[in-house]
Amino acid sequence: MLEYIDSHAHYDAEQFDPDRDELLNRIHKGGVCYIVNMGCNMERSRLSVEYADKYPFVYAAVGVHPEDVDGTPDDYLDRLRKWAENPKTVAIGEIGLDYHYEGYNADLQKRIFEEQLDLAEELHLPVVIHSRDATEDTMNILRKRGKINGVMHCFSGSAETAKQVLALGMNISFTGVLTFKNARKALEALNVVPLDRLMLETDCPYMAPEPNRGKRCDSSMIVNIIDKIAEEKGVAPELVAKQTTENTIKLFCKIK
Ligand SMILES: [Zn+2]
Repeated sequence: MLEYIDSHAHYDAEQFDPDRDELLNRIHKGGVCYIVNMGCNMERSRLSVEYADKYPFVYAAVGVHPEDVDGTPDDYLDRLRKWAENPKTVAIGEIGLDYHYEGYNADLQKRIFEEQLDLAEELHLPVVIHSRDATEDTMNILRKRGKINGVMHCFSGSAETAKQVLALGMNISFTGVLTFKNARKALEALNVVPLDRLMLETDCPYMAPEPNRGKRCDSSMIVNIIDKIAEEKGVAPELVAKQTTENTIKLFCKIK
């Protein structure tokens, strides 16, 4: 049985309301050793910590997602700091920039992003970064800081951008997108990421890999992503699972 980590999931999503507890216990028995549940805003960060407290194999990240910056309370950094003290909070995330939908407030997104990067530095925690249609601004903000202890999640950039992310010292993780028919760009990026800098994630309930594309995703579907990476890199699936598990534990060092 393959054992692996889902480094980025959203089990607080309402799609899991009908069967969350049963599902989490079942997939854990099926090989998902650890799950890191992401924070996106105050309520969802609180839930991440609640699940981490409840399930031994679930860990939390806390943070404000760029699509959720509107209405962030003035004291949000204090609240994140408090949750970050929990021994099972392993990262600040997911944070970053997202210019995908019209009407976004780039200035507000950048301020909240940078404040959370500062917080992560202060707390010596890694960051989980989300960047969509905002590569230039994201990279400019990160480059100013030199080295970054973190991971670029759901990587959707070019091979060239992947090299720049690696040069900052970050890991890169891919979702089920790798298995899609139009994955050529993602596969080119995968090719420049060495196995010892790679992490696995579902971003569930979204991004279900083939053959389940469009359905509700859960962490057990990572096996389809592992198979794709193994095929592309010409290595055994067991090696992909083992190496990505090591990489994830090294980055999120509060795991275990
Ligand atoms: Zn996410």
